Amino acid sequence: MTDKILRIYNTLTRAKEDFSPIDPGNVRMYVCGPTVYDFAHIGNARPVIVFDVLFRLLRHLYGDDHVTYARNITDVDDKINDRALRDFGKDIASGKLSLNEAIRRVTEKTANQFHDDVKALGCLPPTFEPRATEFVEPRPDGKTDMVGLIQGLIARGHAYEANGEVLFDISSMPDYGQLSKRPLDQQQAGARIAVDAHKKSPGDFVLWKLSSPEEPGWNSPWGRGRPGWHIECSAMSAAYLGEVFDIHGGGLDLIFPHHENEIAQSRCAHGTAVMANYWLHNGFLQVEGRKMSKSEGNFVTIYDLLHTEKFGGRKWPGEVLRLAMLMTHYREPIDFSVRKLEEAENTLRKWKRVADTATDTDAAVSGELLSRLADDLGTYSGFQVLNELAAEASEQSEAASVLKASLAFLGFDMSHAGVDEAEVSARIAERLAFIAQKNWAEADRIRDALLAEGVQLKDGKDPATGQRVTTWEVKR
Ligand code: AMP
Ligand code: ZN
Repeated sequence: MTDKILRIYNTLTRAKEDFSPIDPGNVRMYVCGPTVYDFAHIGNARPVIVFDVLFRLLRHLYGDDHVTYARNITDVDDKINDRALRDFGKDIASGKLSLNEAIRRVTEKTANQFHDDVKALGCLPPTFEPRATEFVEPRPDGKTDMVGLIQGLIARGHAYEANGEVLFDISSMPDYGQLSKRPLDQQQAGARIAVDAHKKSPGDFVLWKLSSPEEPGWNSPWGRGRPGWHIECSAMSAAYLGEVFDIHGGGLDLIFPHHENEIAQSRCAHGTAVMANYWLHNGFLQVEGRKMSKSEGNFVTIYDLLHTEKFGGRKWPGEVLRLAMLMTHYREPIDFSVRKLEEAENTLRKWKRVADTATDTDAAVSGELLSRLADDLGTYSGFQVLNELAAEASEQSEAASVLKASLAFLGFDMSHAGVDEAEVSARIAERLAFIAQKNWAEADRIRDALLAEGVQLKDGKDPATGQRVTTWEVKR
């Protein structure tokens, strides 16, 4: 614990508040994770990066062992089923694969890719990363499960069965709508009455729906079926963080209906006044003023940005995307562009050049940076502090050491400090071209020259494409 006060903007109260954890010995945060049907785009990377910075800050303030961060993986969703049918339709038709096996292949591949992606962006793994499919039915370890939560909601009069579904009854919760500030009577707006004739109120949402024999399903008191989207986060957050916890995060688009409905389920199932005390939401990553999304078709995947030349005609290091993302305050929209990445790359290069002159390996993270971050995660403002440190370093050598420690704290890999990554990438590409021409002498010359500069190359194969890839590390 330190005396530094963290202030964060709480969507629940629409105000910046002092953060006061329920238990400083175990600060608990939940963030909604990806639905694993397709590669994540760089808009999806924004909450992962933003909440990684918050995770690091909380660990600094309360101690590494006193923060629990849970981020789920949504591996049950109709989009996943559609993808499995699209990619493995023939194998399913010929009986080579069952639908469930095909689904598992889609979710495993996508989840592994997600892990590779966010690791390359400098994000720490969360403390727990539960998968929705493991929390549908009652568990041997007794952790909260979705079927159990839904049974509890029915027993308490907050849910009902109709037309092959179990629905949450929003009229049973007088203060439904507090997060999105939509009072009950406005929930009617835009509802499709004809389609929703079986609902008591148009805003009632699905907790459970029956599956046809070809759809994935689990046994339940209401028949073989599958959960609605919102109930999974209520189950997994309770399983790892308890009925009431400190921070719940995600992108702005999740405020309604997802987070509103998580709150309704959790509060009504547990009879609590809140689900989480602080609700944090990041703004959108936009392209020409529109939210980047799969449905708009205006997206760039993290994989493509890092490993192909589809964006700006070149590959981009993960840490450049990380910095570009944090140059804007997390609640503001970001308009994404090649220029933004170039600006981040230049800044990072400048900082690393200075950090490479650091002599004190025990230097502390800049206290001024921590203060800026403690003011609602002021990363942009914090970067001004890093610029000042970089400027001071020529006269005052401790500044370079503090800068280095601060960059490492923010999740930038400092083992490469002082190496021009774009230059190394260019020379690796040159070497690969020589290898393709079987010009081993030139290829070896580049390898040896880099080694003399402290950069050791390692040749390997891309598991996805089978192509030769070269990675590198700094040996000093
Ligand atoms: P989804 O897979 O669409 O549920 O999104 C996963 C996470 O990414 C959620 O927290 C979303 O709010 C967030 N997200 C999706 N698109 C964007 C975007 N363009 N900018 C920022 N966050 C986004
Ligand atoms: Zn969620």
